[in-house]
Amino acid sequence: MTTKILIVEDEAKLAQLMIDYLSLDGFDCHNINHGDLVIDWVKEQQPQFILLDLMLPGKDGISLCREIRSFSNVPIIMVTARVEEIDRLLGLELGADDYICKPFSPREVVARVKSVLRRSNPAPQTHNNEVVSEAKPPKNIIIDPDKFIATVYGVELELTPIEFRLLDLLSQSPNRVFSREYLMNNVYTDNRIVSDRTMDSHIKNLRKKIKKASEGKIIISTVYGVGYKMSF
Ligand code: CA
Repeated sequence: MTTKILIVEDEAKLAQLMIDYLSLDGFDCHNINHGDLVIDWVKEQQPQFILLDLMLPGKDGISLCREIRSFSNVPIIMVTARVEEIDRLLGLELGADDYICKPFSPREVVARVKSVLRRSNPAPQTHNNEVVSEAKPPKNIIIDPDKFIATVYGVELELTPIEFRLLDLLSQSPNRVFSREYLMNNVYTDNRIVSDRTMDSHIKNLRKKIKKASEGKIIISTVYGVGYKMSF
């Protein structure tokens, strides 16, 4: 099935460039060049991806992103002409999935689109993983969510709330590979959007603490391009 992408961009040349490159990769591209036309089109056509320019005639990218998020979880990459704008946009917590700054190479756009799509549609677990995931967490990990205490091989860990929830989740299903997306959706209680790097740093800290407490017997490993798993 082809992925339908909406390119909201008022610079005709730039829009055409993105269409050319994304079409080469098999995406079904549509361009809208005015902010006021976006919402109705999205509701009617339900694109699977939106590239959203910030400065537009009519409604701007910020209002559009907010409005789309009120009815849809479609992945959105926001496009801005100024790199310093990205921090401000992040601060607004618009719920966009990624940000690209102009000028960009069309190849970069294609790569980012694919990366966001991978994140929002994690690869299904293999049969093998499903079987292994039925295993029980080992007796060497004791987690008491009410008291917020986690003990590994008799050592009580000092964990942040996010690390605590990560440990709880990962240890319930040894050897199951969890995607970053899944972990983000399940350890953050406030639907906050965090970058992959933020999740990676929580994992890194938890990994260190567990490795030390278990003297290397419990391992959180990175499964390249997929996510993380805990093994014993
Ligand atoms: Ca523009």
